[in-house]
Amino acid sequence: MEPLQDKQDIFGLTLEKLQETLRPFAAPAYRAKQIAEWLYKRGAVSFADMTNLPKKLRLELTDALCIGRPKTKDRLDSADGHTTKFLLEFADGTAVETVLMRQPYGNSICVSTQAGCNMGCAFCASTLHGMARNLTAGEILAQAIAINDMLRTEEHGEKVDTVVIMGSGEPLMNYDNVLGFIRLLHEDYVLGLSYRNITLSTSGIVPQMHKLAEEGIPISLSVSLHAPNQELRSELMPINRKYPLKDVIEAARHYAEVTKRRVTYEYILIDQVNDGEEQARELVALLRGQLASVNLIPINPVAERHLLRPSAARIEWFAKYLTAHHLNVTVRREMGTDIQAACGQLRNKHLAD
Ligand code: SF4
Repeated sequence: MEPLQDKQDIFGLTLEKLQETLRPFAAPAYRAKQIAEWLYKRGAVSFADMTNLPKKLRLELTDALCIGRPKTKDRLDSADGHTTKFLLEFADGTAVETVLMRQPYGNSICVSTQAGCNMGCAFCASTLHGMARNLTAGEILAQAIAINDMLRTEEHGEKVDTVVIMGSGEPLMNYDNVLGFIRLLHEDYVLGLSYRNITLSTSGIVPQMHKLAEEGIPISLSVSLHAPNQELRSELMPINRKYPLKDVIEAARHYAEVTKRRVTYEYILIDQVNDGEEQARELVALLRGQLASVNLIPINPVAERHLLRPSAARIEWFAKYLTAHHLNVTVRREMGTDIQAACGQLRNKHLAD
């Protein structure tokens, strides 16, 4: 990788910004479009790769600019071949996890928005070492493009079909970069993804949830709920003390109303913690009548946290109870437990090495 210090990194720039950046090079306007396609669709890692640019321009660009692409520090493939987890490292040594899930409906990727996280959720490995820093829009996009390039070249022209913003970090605490990333993903010169194929998951940052509803980008919103009452949720998710459950539900309701999109509530099932009859009853009361669905996620045990997965019978009972009370329920298919697919686990392993 080229040194990034003195040169402007152009990976992650919009077409308009690329045009501005190219102005001093006296290149015609269509060169920016060509460069964008090389960056985002054709896997270029250097200007030398951009063979339809004049050689003189390639040399000038190499002298002044650089292309910040991460390198793959680790890669784990699940035994069933469905899930691949990447640890990607940026030029400053910051590493983040990105996961590819080959689903029946297409290739879905889960990107990180911060290196680590400081939200402190009790069940999550990403927060164990706090947060190193926010990622830029380009760094978040670089995760998607790295996997898209890999799919195209190694898996017979496959591509990324859906993106979930659910890796390490709280995306709404890195709002501008995450919005920049979402807008880029949607551009034809990047992946041209429909907003409907992008899901953002939040722990419930209420003011930014309201702001997101007004952006005019109808992405799917997913809210990490994990408990049906204020007290238990505050125990599991400290952010709930700042933004109480009732305000989070209200903000999610507002999002559904404005965007007409069904909100998904993520509910990690933890043995003896939130999987009892009382919690099931409270959950039904909390979400009754909402344009919403509940995604039950049997916990991927996190050794450091001593939290266990309920039995299969308990998981089934919980799902049936919600369904019988007219909630729309799914139970997340297990993917990649053999490769530490729960967010943060691979990165922590490297931090400990
Ligand atoms: S679950 Fe999400 S918000 Fe909570 S600590 Fe983990 S990465 Fe952060």
